[in-house]
Amino acid sequence: MSLMYQELVELYDRLSATTKRLEMTDILVQFFKNCPNSVLDKAVYLTQGRLYPEFVPLELGVADRLIIKSIAQSVAAPESEVNALYKRLGDLGKVAESMLSKGKKQATLCFFSGEARRDKVTVEHVYNVLDRIARAQGEGSQEEKIRLLSDLLRDASPREAMYIVRTVSGAMRLGIADMTILDALAIAFAGSKDARESVERAYNMTSDLGTIAVTLATEGIGALRSIKPIPGRPVRPMLAERLSSPEEILEKMGGRCAVEYKYDGERVQIHRDGDGRINLFSRRLENINGHYPDVLELAAHRLASETFIVEGEIVAVDSYTGDMLPFQELMHRRRKYGVDEAMQAYPAALKLFDALLVEGDDLTLEPYPVRRERLSEITREGDRISLAKQRVVSDARSLENFFEEAISEGCEGLVAKSIDSSSVYKAGARGWLWIKYKRDYRSEMQDSVDLVAVGAYWGTGRRAGNIGTLLLAAYDPDEDVFRTVCKCSTGFSDEEIAGMKSLLEKDIISHKHPRVDSKLSPDMWLSPSKVLEVRGAEITLSPIHTCGLGMIRDGSGLAIRFPRFTGRWRSEKRPEDATTVMEIVEMYKSQLKKVS
Ligand code: ATP
Repeated sequence: MSLMYQELVELYDRLSATTKRLEMTDILVQFFKNCPNSVLDKAVYLTQGRLYPEFVPLELGVADRLIIKSIAQSVAAPESEVNALYKRLGDLGKVAESMLSKGKKQATLCFFSGEARRDKVTVEHVYNVLDRIARAQGEGSQEEKIRLLSDLLRDASPREAMYIVRTVSGAMRLGIADMTILDALAIAFAGSKDARESVERAYNMTSDLGTIAVTLATEGIGALRSIKPIPGRPVRPMLAERLSSPEEILEKMGGRCAVEYKYDGERVQIHRDGDGRINLFSRRLENINGHYPDVLELAAHRLASETFIVEGEIVAVDSYTGDMLPFQELMHRRRKYGVDEAMQAYPAALKLFDALLVEGDDLTLEPYPVRRERLSEITREGDRISLAKQRVVSDARSLENFFEEAISEGCEGLVAKSIDSSSVYKAGARGWLWIKYKRDYRSEMQDSVDLVAVGAYWGTGRRAGNIGTLLLAAYDPDEDVFRTVCKCSTGFSDEEIAGMKSLLEKDIISHKHPRVDSKLSPDMWLSPSKVLEVRGAEITLSPIHTCGLGMIRDGSGLAIRFPRFTGRWRSEKRPEDATTVMEIVEMYKSQLKKVS
């Protein structure tokens, strides 16, 4: 059974017309119930504005200039006309819609409606063409992409063309969170939101909404309940809460816990499947094999298990002394060319801290000491590879001493870990089984936070004509929204200010994003996408920001005073990985404790 792409277009139109999460869920439930199983995964990916799960290293990302050529060819109009309209409308999707409606009207006047061709515009067809576009590589691939896209547009209706173009240019942005899709799948195929926990666990294990949708629709909830981590598919990472004193940590941990160095590097999940293929996934589940050939090498030779999924931190080390270097040095690896040179200049070491699967055994439901033991059994330690340094403590003094030691060796602090029988690997969750203790908590807001840009203001004076200030927000995972916490205009270099507009160009939208909660109205709204690190002097109550609104005092939110960009764009974090509203509330409370 096939599904016309027009049905997806109607879904997108309905979803765009609401900003309420519950309504979005209802609309999706109805759609999923009527969607043939054979295209369910494709429909899910397309609705998220992509073709595959995030971890597949293939991107559509067709350049604007190729899209302009394709639109022009599809309606036999000059490129200059498409360009002029683009300048006026600023949205290539709208340009395609408008050019096609004009073209179709003219075609109708010539007694040719093209209806016969329209029949083939099914979801499957659109998906297959987009897939071919994504895979086209090498010589002649640009022409091939233009040909495929213009043929597809020629057959499409104006509205279909709008969404097709938005998909290929990476500008779908319907504002639907993964969690909303999970809710809708649970209701559509398992009868109610009660099934949500099992659906979410399966998602945390596989990071693949499309596969989950198809499994649920064809095999039912039982099949999802028994899902295990699969080498090759990244598991969503377990995350830590934070506290600011050894006493609080020990109390929370029941008096005894393991503490480990918190290395200042890049988190990595290393997978080896049954065919011996090794893959490295970043904290945001992207494949990073290309950045770390040396880590692939270490994993191949120093981890003795046929199949495994382990986690650790990649740290840059000094090529002469072997000392650990700050996180920033790893950024040299995040480039397309010259990785070999970067590898010589900034060698990497691997500090392993967890094992989720060893020799096919799912360890995620085992307590941490068992997982660490299995990790230790398969790791052949050496100069460049070792387990995270660990100690088991039951008094504040020992914890503090170990902390000082970690700092003196160039770490950020410690991660305390529960070692009791319930200390399972909680994929995709920030919880109290892990608690981080970082140096900077001890001096009020020396501490940095990672915030999401949700709006922007034009600069004045020397910054006139450029974006001078960003409206920043923390993430509220309960409601799945971003709540504003400060406006930040310091810490940016002149070059950064000059380049800010083009950096943010793709994120600028004409209205407040449905997942943003703000009392302020910036000059430009941004789709939440960029995460940046900010330091402030302190956290204060604020009548104008929505972060923590009403949680400390009725009618007041929390704001970061004197925020300053640290120079660090946290490109490895997704907006949902930003500092949470609850973390800001906790930081405010711990500030108060210090003052009193
Ligand atoms: P941060 O920005 O503070 O690193 P985060 O949001 O990336 O935080 P958290 O779970 O809050 O992640 O903090 C733990 C992070 O610390 C892990 O994601 C990992 O990258 C890093 N890390 C370093 N050493 C360890 C360790 N021994 N055990 C667990 N995580 C560690």
